[in-house]
Amino acid sequence: MSTAETISQVAGRFGPYGGRYVPETLVAALDELERAYAEAQADPTFHARLDSLLRDYAGRPTPLYFAERLTGSLGGAKIYLKREDLLHTGAHKINNCLGQGLLAQRMGKHRIIAETGAGQHGVATATVCALLGMECVVYMGEEDMRRQELNVYRMRLLGAEVRGVSSGSKTLKDAINEAMRDWVTNVRTTHYLLGSVLGAHPYPAMVRDFHRVISREARQQIQEKEGRLPTAIIACVGGGSNAIGAFYEFIPDKNVRLIGVEAGGRGTKLGEHAARFQGGAPGVLQGTYSYVLQDDNGQIALTHSVSAGLDYASIGPEHAALHDTGRAEYVSATDEAALDATVKLARTEGILPALESAHAVAECIRLAPTLPRHDILVVNLSGRGDKDMGILSRELNLKGA
Ligand SMILES: *Cc1c(COP(=O)(O)O)cnc(C)c1O
Repeated sequence: MSTAETISQVAGRFGPYGGRYVPETLVAALDELERAYAEAQADPTFHARLDSLLRDYAGRPTPLYFAERLTGSLGGAKIYLKREDLLHTGAHKINNCLGQGLLAQRMGKHRIIAETGAGQHGVATATVCALLGMECVVYMGEEDMRRQELNVYRMRLLGAEVRGVSSGSKTLKDAINEAMRDWVTNVRTTHYLLGSVLGAHPYPAMVRDFHRVISREARQQIQEKEGRLPTAIIACVGGGSNAIGAFYEFIPDKNVRLIGVEAGGRGTKLGEHAARFQGGAPGVLQGTYSYVLQDDNGQIALTHSVSAGLDYASIGPEHAALHDTGRAEYVSATDEAALDATVKLARTEGILPALESAHAVAECIRLAPTLPRHDILVVNLSGRGDKDMGILSRELNLKGA
């Protein structure tokens, strides 16, 4: 049994991290969710339905693709890409949304609420609600709505109601607060479909389990292609769901390095980045105890990243434990490195990565040339770049690229 499994069985704790820091009114709802999830996990019909939707609707298994030209141009380790970008709705997020959607249905809840930052989790949630015939309300900061107009339109087209949040900085953190408020009020009819390995127990463990399929497939695929395990798995870390999904089945394989890449933004000063392990300290944010970017008074710091999906002040509690035990390593990539990596991947492989995923590609581009040719790197390509064309066209001077 892996360390992480041992840890996670202690009442939603990962070492000292995780737990359940919520108003009393939500404790019964979280208990109900925990019970329902445990029952679903033990029920073969739940898994059969989820597996069939992951296959026929979302497009699993995703390919593990040998990036031959990228590898050749870097002149070091062999690079494989786990193609989560090919999934329906364009990212890994659909894995979790399908899982929680089916669970909500099983619990007899007909109304789904969710938070969204850039809109990607909102779109995946609205998609699953349309598929399952459920009512959908998505909370989104007004600043984010302005920046991500197209995703607001997508959600509405899919039949979801998008509620603008005008408090605080009008971004993701404020949208989560508003969703929690809704949940407290409507908990009997409503499931809160949280979008990453964050929040109170059982969310971090449950969302991780819905993404474990990434490493389950990748582990088998690399064995088939190379007859051995990779040197390292590299994944970007916002809340941490695609990374923990890509890492999890490799945790017991002590020779496989697990490398999480945070947003280095435009500098190391507080407020200029979202690298929680470089400047953050343990604290509680939105239901869970983990590393948090905060000032000397414990006020949550502002964050910055060119990629909205990595732009959050805290990180999933299981990553905090993997960090402290040293089982996983966490580095950061700057905005500039991510933008450069986007162009490099586009031009060597014909693949436009999401700006979040481009952070993992940037670390791979840095690391691969330092390793021998028979080493293997697996990069989790969490999503595709179509959503980022507006930002890319503003940020990149293609003549010079
Ligand atoms: C949302 C998102 C992320 C960040 O979320 P995690 O929970 O850290 O995975 C990363 N990549 C893409 C493409 C996303 O849409």
